[in-house]
Amino acid sequence: MLQIRTTCEHCEKELPYNSTQARICSYECTFCKDCVEQLLHNVCPNCGGGFQPRPIRPKANLLKHPVKKEKIHKPVIHNKYLAKNKNKLPENR
Ligand SMILES: [Zn+2]
Ligand SMILES: [Zn+2]
Repeated sequence: MLQIRTTCEHCEKELPYNSTQARICSYECTFCKDCVEQLLHNVCPNCGGGFQPRPIRPKANLLKHPVKKEKIHKPVIHNKYLAKNKNKLPENR
């Protein structure tokens, strides 16, 4: 099941379950739209993959399947994936 992580790993911006700004990679690494576009150039710093908007889980389902409580904060400084992949489309990496 998809983990709903409620903050950006880089800047800690709040990304609640219904945020339209949340972006995830295929491993559910979660960043805000601004970081993905301006800092990461659509390259996940943890796996090198691309990002997509996170689907919104309906509110009623959160009782049974809540958001993830622990926050992940790993600011991106120098990143090997970023240098290698930022000019390549995710499907060509
Ligand atoms: Zn961010
Ligand atoms: Zn990733």
